[in-house]
Amino acid sequence: MPQTLPTPPRATSLGRVLIVDDNADLAGALRDVLLGAGTGPAAYVVRTATCGREALAMARDEGFDVAIVDVKLPDASGVDLIIPLRALSVEGEVVLITGFASMDAAIAALRSGAFALIVKSFRPEELIATVEQAITKVRLTRERAELERRYRAVVELTDVLVVALDASGGVVLFNRKAASMAGVASEEARGHDFVSRWVSREDGQRLTDALAAALAGDKAREVETSFGDRLAERGAMHRVRWHLSRVRDGFAHSEGGGLVYGIGIDTTERRALEKRAADAEALSAMGELAMGLAHEIRNPLNAANLQLHLLNRAVDRLAELSPGTRSEMHKRLHIVGDEIGRLGRLLTEFLELARPRELSRQAVELGELVEAVLALEREQAEARGVKIAVEIDSDGPRAIGDAEKLKQVVLNLVVNALEAMKDGGSLSAKVFSRENKVVLQLDDTGPGIDPSVLAQVFDPFFTTKEAGTGLGLSIVRKIIDQHGGDVRIDSARGKGASVIVSLPAARSAPEGGGAGA
Ligand code: ADP
Repeated sequence: MPQTLPTPPRATSLGRVLIVDDNADLAGALRDVLLGAGTGPAAYVVRTATCGREALAMARDEGFDVAIVDVKLPDASGVDLIIPLRALSVEGEVVLITGFASMDAAIAALRSGAFALIVKSFRPEELIATVEQAITKVRLTRERAELERRYRAVVELTDVLVVALDASGGVVLFNRKAASMAGVASEEARGHDFVSRWVSREDGQRLTDALAAALAGDKAREVETSFGDRLAERGAMHRVRWHLSRVRDGFAHSEGGGLVYGIGIDTTERRALEKRAADAEALSAMGELAMGLAHEIRNPLNAANLQLHLLNRAVDRLAELSPGTRSEMHKRLHIVGDEIGRLGRLLTEFLELARPRELSRQAVELGELVEAVLALEREQAEARGVKIAVEIDSDGPRAIGDAEKLKQVVLNLVVNALEAMKDGGSLSAKVFSRENKVVLQLDDTGPGIDPSVLAQVFDPFFTTKEAGTGLGLSIVRKIIDQHGGDVRIDSARGKGASVIVSLPAARSAPEGGGAGA
């Protein structure tokens, strides 16, 4: 029977001690020594067991901080109990008691993880001192584990990026956020060169310099760079603002003695918003003056077009021209015509972008609208060898917005996709509801967009086409913004482009018609 002594109520426990000895007298004496050791209300909680089996059962049920174990037990050797006991109480320590100690026995005991070996007959103070030391170790181990747990909670669960780099720029630590943005598991990141693997070439040198400066000096450095998986095919890089500082104590394994900690904040969204605000401001600053100018240009442009038409006819009528010269002249006139046409388009699109206009807001069957636009472009698509597939949710998703404007959005996106697929391909349009949004997803099998320019395609005047205006996607974004929606492009070179537009959904029941709860 295990003997349990009643613990004085509300006493502060100095620690839980498990005495394992088949000699009841000795166990009792040890217990009394320990119970007399506390000062004031603080005391050890002492349990006793008479054999190995009983000791393991008690350890399993109640745990212990220090186990005092006789080497010679009826059913086991105390040395063999060390490992299973410690497995049951991970931070607990085992003190062995033996009648005689050879050097070999002592070494074996310590190898198996005993905290100490006490040889009978010992003085009570010796036992108390040893137990106190063991308890101190247990407490420190616990405190360390707790600190580590808190540190992990802070580092892992936070929404900022935390990285640690060694003196040569190799990754020592990525927290969960950094790893997920980098597209690797935290353990996989370890040892890889940070700058060359996850920072774009343009920012690499600046970051390397900042790291070196942080390592050399005591001052923390701030630097903003791109961050993301450079090897990934899809997904744009993020913008991250890093706060770099050297860890002074260092870690033994980091050669050169230095570690740099980087705390990073993802500024991608903020930078994008700032840029959009700046774009909008720039457009409105161009404002009326530019619009007036655009209108003024339209008249002479129309006149030039008319004159060109007449000139073409005149060339046809000039009897003295040789066929070669005539065709050469037509060719040149044709080029002038193309350029006038391009200027005309530029004006139309520019006016569209710059003109402030109220939207009408009605329920728009987005699927029908998409089909109408695709019907317009079907001939173009066939001529290019592009197959079109349409998939519309059977519930007829309805967005709230301006049908004419949305038509323009879809037209711009479809024209871009068709223009991208010069050698044929397929265009898939899907319209579906998702939560309180209506989504249009257009996937093409064209050449896709290089990640290095993906962030720029919505900029006014950004184009990679010879006769492009670079205003199509700017208009798309402006209209979608006005609708309170969102548009993004997911693409990589050689993998086609996928444009995803989401718009606020119209309520399914007509206005005022009580939609049931
Ligand atoms: P534009 O069509 O006049 O060039 P946009 O603003 O519509 O102007 O498009 C900007 C650029 O975005 C294009 O020049 C092209 O490089 C790229 N782009 C747009 N859509 C696609 C697509 N579906 N596939 C590949 N590139 C595209």
